[in-house]
Amino acid sequence: MRRGSTPLRFEQPIHVTRPLLPPLAELNAELEKVWASGWLTNGGEQHALLERELAEWLGAPNLSLFNNGTAALMVACQALQVTGEVVTSPFTFPATPHVLSWNKVAPVFADIDPETMNITPDTVAPLVTGATSAVLAVHVYGLPCDVRGIDRLAQAQGLKVLYDGAHAFGTTIDGEPVARFGDATMFSFHATKLFHTAEGGALAVRDAETKARVDLLKNFGIRNEEEVVLPGINGKMNELQAALGRVVLRHVAAERARRERVGRIYRERLAGAAGLRIVAMPPGVTDSHQYLILRVDEQGAGCSRDALHARLKRFNIVTRKYFHPLCSQYDCYRHLPSARPERLPNAHRVAAEVLSLPYHGGLADDDVHRICDAIEYSLAR
Ligand SMILES: *Cc1c(COP(=O)(O)O)cnc(C)c1O
Repeated sequence: MRRGSTPLRFEQPIHVTRPLLPPLAELNAELEKVWASGWLTNGGEQHALLERELAEWLGAPNLSLFNNGTAALMVACQALQVTGEVVTSPFTFPATPHVLSWNKVAPVFADIDPETMNITPDTVAPLVTGATSAVLAVHVYGLPCDVRGIDRLAQAQGLKVLYDGAHAFGTTIDGEPVARFGDATMFSFHATKLFHTAEGGALAVRDAETKARVDLLKNFGIRNEEEVVLPGINGKMNELQAALGRVVLRHVAAERARRERVGRIYRERLAGAAGLRIVAMPPGVTDSHQYLILRVDEQGAGCSRDALHARLKRFNIVTRKYFHPLCSQYDCYRHLPSARPERLPNAHRVAAEVLSLPYHGGLADDDVHRICDAIEYSLAR
């Protein structure tokens, strides 16, 4: 950008994401099969096919599809008999603590690591009491938790480990798929996620026996015509969602490649900007390419995250302050002793620094350059 010139405002708002929309003809071809079968839900052919394809893709043999990620996590709590208290992260989407509340389990918020932005064995351990049954950790932005450390702590304390892997579709740690760790990992296939089924989700569990329990729980606990054996809910993914998922899955590799290129432009353009840092995966970790997160250090940048967010809006660039406010600040949780701000200093600092930037395959190189121009211009004000 020429110094002093004002970047152009985008005609249409630029959002942080845009759903991956495969060619409609490909979807229609699958829908024709669904129509011909006359079978719309209750574990049809598309469901069976997508479950197998995703189990392969995610390296998670015991995978169950769901109508959304939140239902998958609610069922995980039931399947693993999570009770009492569960230590979790305040730096996440509301669904994470809410599934605990819906299971009559008390969330206990642990502080996060300032770099990984996830809860750690060190922040979780002091919060474990006789009532604690599990840890519900989040791989926030696809940055993996210290899975081995959390595993050791859980082993020592007899706790279950659940992961909210809503951002971790495709994340691997030293070549190991993220779903290999913990007792259960939830994936979300919401339209805002890179891989999606419009609404949808999945739960990966350790063994076939647990998967059988999960499959019962997502279908009202119905074992057969004569027997209902568990108080289940309706968590089933339908055939239309599954057909969409099968088509979207064919385009995931191209979307990931496109996002990688977009990410490279952001990194090159913003590398020299004082006080700005783009969150990167640690060595050995495969990026899920779910988000592109900027951290704004107000001192160094001479501009707060909130000011940058507001200034970019003038260019029709709609960034998001994921995850501000913290879950511990919600009216339904702020009364908890673990929610006190002085107990969550890193979470409060990080929540004031992060800004989710537009990041999807529909962005042209030139769009990304214009967004970077607008960022540079906004910082200089
Ligand atoms: C998207 C998301 C969820 C919710 O998933 P749904 O499929 O929309 O129910 C849960 N946790 C996190 C961290 C998410 O980003």
